[in-house]
Amino acid sequence: MNGWTVGIETTAHTFSFGLVDSKGIPYPSTSDTIKPEKGGIHPREAADHHKDFAAQLFRRALESQNLSIDDISAISYSQGPGLGPCLRVGAAVARSLSTALDVPLIGVNHCVAHIEIGRQQCGCNDPVLLYVSGGNTQVIARLNGRYRVLGETLDIGIGNMLDKFARSNGIPFPGGPVIEKLALQYLERVTEPTLEGLELPYAVRGMDLAFSGLMTAAQRLVENGQSLDAVCWSLQEHAFAACIEVAERALAHTGKSEVLLGGGVACNERMRTMSNLMAEERGGRSYVPPKMYCIDNGTMIARLGWLELEKRTTELHQSAIDQYLRTDQTPIVWT
Ligand code: AMP
Ligand code: MG
Repeated sequence: MNGWTVGIETTAHTFSFGLVDSKGIPYPSTSDTIKPEKGGIHPREAADHHKDFAAQLFRRALESQNLSIDDISAISYSQGPGLGPCLRVGAAVARSLSTALDVPLIGVNHCVAHIEIGRQQCGCNDPVLLYVSGGNTQVIARLNGRYRVLGETLDIGIGNMLDKFARSNGIPFPGGPVIEKLALQYLERVTEPTLEGLELPYAVRGMDLAFSGLMTAAQRLVENGQSLDAVCWSLQEHAFAACIEVAERALAHTGKSEVLLGGGVACNERMRTMSNLMAEERGGRSYVPPKMYCIDNGTMIARLGWLELEKRTTELHQSAIDQYLRTDQTPIVWT
């Protein structure tokens, strides 16, 4: 590639343009996230938001690196998995840009993009990825030329669980960061924190996870008079321990030593600490990219597109989105 690769991310609540240069070096994304005033994300409303913001975000992304459209040599976009209406907006923008600028188009896998930006940012080579985001919770590792999902949530994503619990308690989206603050507040006000009276069900099944029972039980604690900050602390302890346990099992199973965190919930300091402790105890290491590359961002889409472009491009007739695209559907054709 001679010029820059543009990445377009629209799997859910965020519209984001990102850029990598001709050597694949990432630059910060230009993004906007829909924040519903009440209730969860409505896919069609999010898609409308994306449509409204596309043009101005694109302009701002180019301005951020002083680029003109002539500097662009490829367009990469999230082909899936995600919310259909949202993905369709991103794909339409990508097709239009690719056609108008006469540059190659490449549709990439959102989950794989999280892994690749993490590898690039952290300099780790062959990690087990603990991908903890709003809609997804997966433990992924590279085996026989593909990223394989070794374990995942059987119901809702961990971020969704945190957001829903928060919403039930009057906290607007995104609830995860507020729950983190409340948990810290609890630890500051009690001298000896204990889970006594704050126990929650712990749902690890083999390498799979489940979160909706945990959420219901946490809500019941609040309704029965436990203070919200104490329950937030307990909820984090239980939910994160379950994820870390599954990641540890994946390390043991695959013989790998690196853990890489990704997804919005990887912004959480307690999650990071738990992952560090687990990895250190096993003689391994835990890595986490900067927050702007943990959350959904266009830059990771540009980076994966750049990696794949030497081997393939997406023709218009293959460019339809796939809401259910699986992580192991993408052959790893790069190093
Ligand atoms: P993503 O789906 O990867 O864009 O991430 C969004 C999710 O990350 C939302 O569910 C947020 O509540 C969650 N999140 C963001 N920051 C934090 C945090 N500090 N602690 C826990 N969850 C977080
Ligand atoms: Mg994501």
